[in-house]
Order: sequence, then C-alpha cells, then structure tokens
Amino acid sequence: MRSWGMTPTAVADSTTATDVINSANKKGEPFSLAFLDFMAPQMNGFELAEVIARNRRSSLEKIVMLTSGGQIGDGAKCRELGISAYLMKPIKQSDLLDAILMAMQKPSSSDHSCSLITRHSVREARKRLKILLAEDNTVNQKLAVKILEKMGHVVSIASNGREALHTLEQDDFQLVLMDVQMPEMDGFEATRAIREKEVVLGRHIPIVAMTAHAMVGDRERRLDVGMDAYISKPISSKKLAKVIDEALRTAEAPELKL
Ligand code: MN
Repeated sequence: MRSWGMTPTAVADSTTATDVINSANKKGEPFSLAFLDFMAPQMNGFELAEVIARNRRSSLEKIVMLTSGGQIGDGAKCRELGISAYLMKPIKQSDLLDAILMAMQKPSSSDHSCSLITRHSVREARKRLKILLAEDNTVNQKLAVKILEKMGHVVSIASNGREALHTLEQDDFQLVLMDVQMPEMDGFEATRAIREKEVVLGRHIPIVAMTAHAMVGDRERRLDVGMDAYISKPISSKKLAKVIDEALRTAEAPELKL
C-alpha cells in the first residue's frame, strides 16, 4: 500500500483498531478505509465492523473484509453492515489495488443496496470497459454494439466527431472507437481536438481508428493526430478484441493512476 502512495497503519487486534480509529478521528485525520481480518482475536471482523458502524462520529466509511474461507450468509451480512468489499485471502496485488479503487469510488456505505465488491466482481470490472463508439453508419453501429456488448463492454454511440467530443465531456470513457470518415467532423479532426484538450488535463484516452478503405498516408495521419491503433472494416469480435488490447497497452501510462 505504501508503494501506491497510501499511508497504512497496521494493528493486530480489535481494541487497538478502535483506539487507533478514535484517535485518528480526534486528530481530524480519519482513515478513509479499513481492512478487517475476519479471523481476528477478541472480536471477529463482522463484530468489529458493527462497532465501527455504530460509532456515528467515525468518519470511516469504507470497510473491506478479508477472509480465508467464505461462509453462506457472509454477503448478506456485509451488505447489512455497509461493508464495501469482501475479499478472499490470499489476495493478488492487482486485485487488491482494484478493490481499493472500486471501494473508494462506491457511494457511501449507507447505501445498502450497493453491490458487494468481491474478487470476482473486481476481475469482471477489469475486463468491462466503457467505450464510446463514434460511427455514422447505423448498420456498422449496430454490429459494433452487438459485438462489444457481447464482450461485456458498455457502449455509448456518437454519430459524428462533434457528437463524440460532446459525449466525452459528459462522461468518463476508457476507450474510443473512432470511424475515420464521418459527416460534420471526421475521426481525424475529432481525435486532434480530443488530444488538444488532454494536454491540459494530463490524460490520454486510447483511440482506435476504424477505416473502411485504407488510403495512402492514412497511417501517418493516424499517428499524427494521436490515434493509438486501428481496425479495418468489416469488424469482427476477434479483430476488435485484439485491437482493444493493443490500444490499451499502447496508451497505458507507465505510472499507476490513483
Ligand atoms: Mn463513416
């Protein structure tokens, strides 16, 4: 956790845990997140979670339960106590980081209807991307949406470059599939505009160009405006899976985004 820039405090039992939580609150530096081992001495994880939940002055809102063996009813108990995540030990480093990020993004634990974060949901979420599809041809739109949704992704549609820019401003996406030829504003122009804005924001969304006919100079133009990868039409699920993977790797920042 330290290597991710977090400042963890480790304690070995429930009494020390509540003491540490209380003194952090008093200092006005409350913990953002607690990891509770289910098999802790004195109180088990659920009992301690209940104590934390009862303490209304506590600003600690996110609790992650760690267990080495799940039992029937644990999920319901977690929801009842407002526990954000329930993770099986041992935990892989990548699962741990994603679980932390997901827990922090979740609305406050008082919303008990929220789904519980588990190793399974963490891994599912990693594969599921929010994708913006910019494509003017409705037949191609339908085909791409069908394939992407079958792959588990969530897709929004823009019919031209201008709409794509607008939609990107309204919502967060992890990838853009950009048709090169579109009315009003084409894919090159839209990509250029996206990259110009990103200079200020310091981010880089992967953009995959979609082309119907390869034209001389296309590759240079794609690189010039800042596209990460390209796929030729007609698209297929095999081609899409490969190019999405490639675009994510190309666009990936070297440092962890926290
Ligand atoms: Mn087109």
